[in-house]
Amino acid sequence: MDFTKAEFIRSAASREGFIRDGLPQAAFVGRSNVGKSSVINSIVRRRDFARVGSRPGKTGQINYFLIDKKFYIADLPGYGYAEVSKAERDRWGRLMEDYFASGLVTLGVQIVDARHKPTADDVTMMDCFKANAIDVVVVANKADKCRPSELPGNVARIRETLDISEDTPLLSYSAVTHKDREALLIALDWALDL
Ligand code: GDP
Repeated sequence: MDFTKAEFIRSAASREGFIRDGLPQAAFVGRSNVGKSSVINSIVRRRDFARVGSRPGKTGQINYFLIDKKFYIADLPGYGYAEVSKAERDRWGRLMEDYFASGLVTLGVQIVDARHKPTADDVTMMDCFKANAIDVVVVANKADKCRPSELPGNVARIRETLDISEDTPLLSYSAVTHKDREALLIALDWALDL
């Protein structure tokens, strides 16, 4: 399977900007530099669609991408970037809380680093999805940087740290080699009921 058309629709800096047209929305979240933009680009097979390698945490908005006129990828601000002021961080926190509580989020796509134990911020993020009863797919990105023999242990550690059950899909992914891309597309298709 494949997605063929991807369009940037708009950015939202507050709840007034949320898209409310009834199409499913997949909220992509992750620590700055985890490869969130790269994962989005790998899904839509475009190199510069979501911006890669921009100054981490620079864009404190939700960026909406419409995929095949069927669903939105909502690209949320990357978290855990120390140079952002507390006022900015608080604003993003409120923006995310508003968005999660809005009932507009069909699915969370949480990107973590396949090499490492999830950070405290990653755990907080997952707790946010749980608190709002939002289904999640976890994408452990940069799996190409792990030895294949390390992956099962790393994935188990991620599952344990985020405290998610076997019902929550967890893919070891690579935005570089496109490892597990097909599995992610199938998970999105299924979870968004496309
Ligand atoms: P974002 O801040 O989360 O949007 O992260 P980016 O997509 O900008 O990626 C951050 C850096 O990680 C860039 O240098 C990417 O080329 C690199 N990167 C992203 N995904 C992968 C991956 O799966 N494997 C490897 N080896 N590098 C990656």
